[in-house]
Amino acid sequence: MTERVGFIGLGIMGQGMTLNLLKAGFPVTVWNRTAAKTEQALAAGAAAGASPADVAAKSDIIITCVSDTPDVQAVLLGENGVIYGAKPGALVIDMSTISPGATRDMAAALAEKGVAMLDAPVSGGSEGAAKGTLSIMVGGDANAYERAQPVFKAMGKTITRVGDIGAGQMVKLVNQVLVVVNGLAVCEALLLAQAGGLDLQTTIDAVAGGAAGSWMLSMRGPQIARRDWRPGFTIDLQQKDVRLVLEAAQELGVPMLATSLVNNLYRTLQQRGLGSEGNHALVKALENLAGIEVGQKG
Ligand code: NAP
Repeated sequence: MTERVGFIGLGIMGQGMTLNLLKAGFPVTVWNRTAAKTEQALAAGAAAGASPADVAAKSDIIITCVSDTPDVQAVLLGENGVIYGAKPGALVIDMSTISPGATRDMAAALAEKGVAMLDAPVSGGSEGAAKGTLSIMVGGDANAYERAQPVFKAMGKTITRVGDIGAGQMVKLVNQVLVVVNGLAVCEALLLAQAGGLDLQTTIDAVAGGAAGSWMLSMRGPQIARRDWRPGFTIDLQQKDVRLVLEAAQELGVPMLATSLVNNLYRTLQQRGLGSEGNHALVKALENLAGIEVGQKG
């Protein structure tokens, strides 16, 4: 039997993920705080829910993809939240990037109502969400994980159960250390290329296939070279992830030298009012220090 899917949070990621669930044939009910963002999903055949509780009442599997820990708490447990509509036997899948500890607490609250929960944060950017090629890191019960496979396969390519509830978020934090430190390397390298008089795109093409290659270099390097700061992932949300990494590291007693540096660089950009630009605008923090501008001048 095809499960009815509810989707809450149609931002940059949720838009593409919802369209891929519809394409895979799932009946989907959507809700977004700002209603206008549901238009594309509704045009593609989704039904409109009146609130997170209403979405939950009409769904067997309820997916959330909103910004930060308090936002997931609000849509799951707050006023008109999922917990007030979900029936016993329902499955909640949170695909946002949030705190592992808060995830475990929310799963416990839902379990009291007979509702299961998986944490399933993603990687792969807005491109991965649109193409259905996300990497999905799943924490939670093995049976719930098996049940969720068809919906995961509609949205992602590399789907891995990494442990119990909360473990998906912990792996995502590990993922984000790799993303931001690599992002800093990409920015620093392109700054050097600029100072050395190189053509940035030619330089990227020359090195991307070798040991220096990475998703950040191939996907965001050309954007930096064009000075295109449109977000696949905003600086504000990237800084939120770095904050989550540093909080977890603090609890665990792990020094995070490079990640702390990136956190401070992102802070300088937020202070300059650039929080809604793409995370690759990190290069602007380095430009500021170096007195050099990368890329094509307009
Ligand atoms: P986004 O475009 O900023 O969208 C955020 C979504 O969360 C919007 O639908 C927003 O509603 C909703 N929201 C925020 N606070 C809310 C609240 N208190 N109550 C109800 N809804 C709320 O962000 P995104 O890029 O799609 O990211 C969503 C999640 O995926 C984040 O946790 C992010 O870290 C994670 N993620 C993003 C990427 C990426 O490359 N973009 C990659 C991997 C993971 P409104 O429309 O009303 O503002």
